[in-house]
Amino acid sequence: MALIVQKYGGTSMGSIDRIKNVAKRIKRWHDHGHQVIVVVSAMSGETNRLIDLANQISSTPDPREYDQMVSTGEQVSISLLSMAIQELGIGARSFTGGQVAIRTDNKHTKARIESIDSENIQAQLNAGNVVVVAGFQGVDAEGNITTLGRGGSDTTGVALAAALDADECQIYTDVDGVYTTDPRVTAKARKLDKITFEEMLEMASLGSKVLQIRAVEFAGKYQVPLRVLSSFDEGQDGSFDEEFAKMLAH
Ligand code: ADP
Ligand code: ASP
Ligand code: MG
Repeated sequence: MALIVQKYGGTSMGSIDRIKNVAKRIKRWHDHGHQVIVVVSAMSGETNRLIDLANQISSTPDPREYDQMVSTGEQVSISLLSMAIQELGIGARSFTGGQVAIRTDNKHTKARIESIDSENIQAQLNAGNVVVVAGFQGVDAEGNITTLGRGGSDTTGVALAAALDADECQIYTDVDGVYTTDPRVTAKARKLDKITFEEMLEMASLGSKVLQIRAVEFAGKYQVPLRVLSSFDEGQDGSFDEEFAKMLAH
């Protein structure tokens, strides 16, 4: 049995059908006897929609209120995905960042994760449930909701993998891996089998959004094995890695 953290980005969660497909992939890992923690982003376009609403009120919205609102997209995603998993006959529980005590500093809109209380998550996993956690958000020492900067769900995923000593953190997105450059911009981009944390850090610092830079920093610091995978491969069930799942089962 392995402990896997899977993170699904906005496009992967972009419609009810896609959410159902995500649930099916999670079921396959669960059926192989693995414990699964899932981190999700808001449905694609939702975070931009919320930011636009704030900007219609103020060009400089109060950062606390901004975080309070912009974090809501992920709360919708966690509940919908948990329902979809439950429909497949598997126990699932959703949690906001605050509910699993992802404690951050108080730097609204770009907060840093300081600690995670893994007790609640571990209890749910031990009970056989899939744990679904809202990405991109935490809570400061005063209980204010904070957000981790655009693309911050990657960092939530890696931080949870580090805190729970997961066997792997899988980042599911709309491309099937890390390329030499953005494959949507450069047709000649080549998929990389492996990349060091240092090289990935350089790529992220040059603006590649495939992984948020803080996620790469975290992964390097805590030596979290990280894989970028497509949530759209191979029709319904996507890039389920049968061999890898079996290997971990032994
Ligand atoms: P998600 O919503 O799943 O977090 P993002 O849009 O944040 O997805 O990140 C995935 C996107 O990153 C891809 O669609 C791709 O256009 C872009 N990207 C930029 N640089 C790279 C790279 N070197 N390798 C792969 N994807 C890249
Ligand atoms: N929903 C947030 C954003 O759009 C976080 C994320 O997608 O990682 O930036
Ligand atoms: Mg992203």
